[in-house]
Amino acid sequence: MAEIPESHPRRKSLISRKTIVEATKKGLLADSAMIAHGRGEAFDYLLGEKTSQIAKLSIKESAARLISAKSPVISVNGNTAVLAGKALIRVAAVLQCPIEINIYYRTKERMKLLYDFLELQKLNVSKERNPDKWKGDWGVAVMSVRILGREEDGRINGLEGPRAICSAEGIEKADVILVPLEDGDRCEVLVSLGKEVLVVDLNPLSRSAKMATVTIVDEVSRMADLLLEYVIADSSNVTKWNNNSALKETLKIISNNLDE
Ligand code: ATP
Ligand code: MG
Repeated sequence: MAEIPESHPRRKSLISRKTIVEATKKGLLADSAMIAHGRGEAFDYLLGEKTSQIAKLSIKESAARLISAKSPVISVNGNTAVLAGKALIRVAAVLQCPIEINIYYRTKERMKLLYDFLELQKLNVSKERNPDKWKGDWGVAVMSVRILGREEDGRINGLEGPRAICSAEGIEKADVILVPLEDGDRCEVLVSLGKEVLVVDLNPLSRSAKMATVTIVDEVSRMADLLLEYVIADSSNVTKWNNNSALKETLKIISNNLDE
C-alpha cells in the first residue's frame, strides 16, 4: 500500500477500503460487500474513527459472555473475514471455539475461497509469537481452531431458504454467538431461539444493532484486537447489560463530535 502516505490522517480507512476492493476482485466477496463497507465507513467517520468508551465496555461485556459460554462461536461473513480474519482467529484460539463462515449470498465457490483464505490465515497466525500475556503452545492452540460452514448440516429454525443454512456444530449448537455485520432478520431469529447474540455494527440504528443482546458499535478490525486483549485478561464478569442505553450513548458521541 505504498501509494497511501504514512502521514495520511485516514490511512487505516483507505487501506481497509483497498482490502475490500481487492478481495472483491478475487471473488471472495459479493458486489454488495462494497456497499455494506461504504455504509460502515460513513458511520465510522461520524464516530471519529476511534473506539469509544462505551464500545470498549461492550467489547469487555462480549468477552465475558464468550468466556462464560458453553458453546461459543464466531460467525464471519466475507467482509469480516478479510478485514479481521486474522485477529478473530487469535480470539478463537484463546477461547478454543470454532469460527463459522456464514455469508448472505451463499455460493459454493465463495464458501471455498473464504475457507481457503481463513485456513491460510490460520497457518500464518500459528507461526506468530504468543500474544501478550497469553501462556501455552500458540501453534497448537491456533491450529486446533475449526473453520466451519461448508458442511451445511445445521438449520436456523424460523428462517427460510439459504439464510437458514448453518453448521450443526457452530451456530445451531451455540449459546453465545459473536456475529460481526449480521443482518437484522437473522439476528432477530437467533435471539428468539434463546441465543445470546453479540453483534458488531457501526450503525447504531441498524436492525441488528437494536436486536442484539450486546452491540459493539465499532469497526470490526479495531474491536477484534481489543477483544483479544480482553479474552486473554479473562474477565468473565457478565453484567446485566442494557443495550438500549449503550446505543443511546453512542448516538450522543456522534452529536457531541460537532463540539470538538
Ligand atoms: P440491518 O438488516 O441490520 O438493518 P443493514 O441492511 O443496515 O442491516 P447491511 O447492508 O447488512 O446492513 O450492512 C452491513 C452493516 O455493517 C452496516 O450497518 C454497516 O454500518 C456495518 N459495517 C460495514 N462495515 C463495517 C466494519 N468494517 N465494521 C463494523 N461494521 C461495519
Ligand atoms: Mg445490519
